[in-house]
Amino acid sequence: MGLGSFFKRGKKEKADAEECHIEIVSDDCDGCEKCIIACPNNVLMLAGDVSTVRDAQVCKRCRVCVAICPNECITVN
Ligand code: SF4
Ligand code: SF4
Repeated sequence: MGLGSFFKRGKKEKADAEECHIEIVSDDCDGCEKCIIACPNNVLMLAGDVSTVRDAQVCKRCRVCVAICPNECITVN
């Protein structure tokens, strides 16, 4: 494997990490913190009285947060 493909692979991994898109509809969030507590990767945090994304780069797309939210306000793509 040449150096070129090494760099290409590095770029792809970075692109995959960036593809994780977490959307939280803050109007529907009541700040119960269930998603924050349940996330195994500490991706989410409370900001004011709603859940917000602390670090999308460490999200593993397990969607535990999506499943646990009682208000269905999280989507992870
Ligand atoms: S999909 Fe999983 S890792 Fe990502 S924010 Fe939700 S619970 Fe955390
Ligand atoms: S589980 Fe849903 S309602 Fe509760 S803090 Fe998270 S996003 Fe908001």
